Amino acid sequence: VKASGRNNISFYDPEMQAKIVQRKQTEKDLEQAILNEEFQIFFQAQVSSEQGVIGAETLLRWFHPKRGLVYPNDFIPQLEETGLLIPVGNKVLLDGCKKLQQWSKQQEFKQLTLSINVSAMQLLHEDFTDYVKQLLSTYQISAGKLKLEITESILIENIDATIAIMNDLANCGVLFSLDDFGTGFSSLCYLKSLPLTQLKIDKSFIKDLLNDDNDIAISKTIVNLATCLDLDVIAEGVEQKAQQEVLNQIGCYHYQGYYFHRPAEEYEFEKFTLAYNSD
Ligand code: C2E
Ligand code: CA
Ligand code: CA
Ligand code: CA
Repeated sequence: VKASGRNNISFYDPEMQAKIVQRKQTEKDLEQAILNEEFQIFFQAQVSSEQGVIGAETLLRWFHPKRGLVYPNDFIPQLEETGLLIPVGNKVLLDGCKKLQQWSKQQEFKQLTLSINVSAMQLLHEDFTDYVKQLLSTYQISAGKLKLEITESILIENIDATIAIMNDLANCGVLFSLDDFGTGFSSLCYLKSLPLTQLKIDKSFIKDLLNDDNDIAISKTIVNLATCLDLDVIAEGVEQKAQQEVLNQIGCYHYQGYYFHRPAEEYEFEKFTLAYNSD
């Protein structure tokens, strides 16, 4: 290590030492969490104004023995840094595909799709496509049931590799949704080169939808863009009926958010789906 002026980091810097210790501890915690199966997927309903509940998104939860329920923003970055997002992400895909197989055998759930979040690190990992293909065949997943949610950030680097992987999986019946749409920096021209089936309007545009005409204009533009490109569009973060109504007026008919159902354990999600779809 080159020592240079005041940026010099001494081995004995106590603050630095504390950070290293903290990081090591986090890594140990995460490894232990994997072994103890403390990670669990929750399901959040995706609702169509015409067909009711049409699918779910999986959202990861960590049930820490001491800290209790921990949310993804507090552990996904650490999983990425340690590389542990690969095994954890694979488990999410595994559990998700098992669930899809179960649903396929139940009349009241067989129409459901399952959306799974996948980060750039996972998608670009060399074993990713083979692993997903193996799951599709082991759990006999029908084309159009498994949807992977990616974000625009994946397109900043490795665009060609990303497109190749997506095309490969799309040819096997995997759908792709572009998550948090409108918050990234990707060029619109990539939209036509990616095998996408859906755009997801970011919740930051939905939050003030009722008070901010700009948010309505942006949402409307995304809906129009999706329509032009022959893509589905879904809005996330819908918390009020009035927001759904505005979205409906601008041509967005698929929604996700607390107004419908919070992310919940599978049994709770299934109970909600049964009740909602039977009305
Ligand atoms: P995301 O994919 O954008 O997921 C939507 C987030 O909004 C979730 O936060 C969800 O619980 C929350 N949400 C849902 N409905 C509402 C609503 O009506 N209002 C508001 N304010 N929020 C709502 P969560 O579960 O904390 O997840 C945060 C992020 O962590 C996700 O953002 C996703 O990027 C990431 N993540 C979650 N699970 C996984 C996973 O299995 N793998 C990977 N790679 N990332 C994951
Ligand atoms: Ca998502
Ligand atoms: Ca999102
Ligand atoms: Ca997000």
